[in-house]
Amino acid sequence: MEIPKNITVGVLAIQGDFERHLAQLDSLGVPHREVRLAADLDRIDGLILPGGESTTMDIMIDRFKLREPLTRFCRTKPVYGTCAGMILLSRLIRDNQSRVKPLNIIDIEVLRNGYGRQLFSSDERLEVNLGNGTKHVEATFIRAPKIVAIGSGVEVLARRGTDPVLVKSGKALASAFHNELGGETAILRHFLTHYFV
Ligand code: GLN
Repeated sequence: MEIPKNITVGVLAIQGDFERHLAQLDSLGVPHREVRLAADLDRIDGLILPGGESTTMDIMIDRFKLREPLTRFCRTKPVYGTCAGMILLSRLIRDNQSRVKPLNIIDIEVLRNGYGRQLFSSDERLEVNLGNGTKHVEATFIRAPKIVAIGSGVEVLARRGTDPVLVKSGKALASAFHNELGGETAILRHFLTHYFV
């Protein structure tokens, strides 16, 4: 499948590794835009929520008055959250001592830093199901959230052991890991080709 023409993809650019995602979009020739203000959402067709620190993003979302427009956008448009971005897209955060307010887009419960607090960068090869058979992708877990419960409408596209780590619900995709750090575009391409229809 081809990447659709005439789409502009936004990247939430208030904190975290948004530049890496912008570079990835650039490498694929996809028009993109940094999103910081509600008005930016009117100029994009889909959004990537990057990894970083969900506590900081949560504060900034309120500071930039993004919560309501961002939630509305994520309910109907293609969105792809990685790591902290997945935390934001979840329905519930377990043991939520930092009181991060998830946007409730994907019916998953997550545990922040669920694989331990240490920065461990494991570059595993994970088997993923991206719609046309299984494939192996690079998966880097950095203080990654663990998915501890999933709702019935959620499709699991990859697991690490028994844990779901790549999930899809409607037009929303989320990974507990980073796939963009080594320059791989497999999951981004899957998002661009399958979610903008
Ligand atoms: N531990 C971070 C958080 O809770 C997520 C880490 C990441 O995005 N790589 O927000």
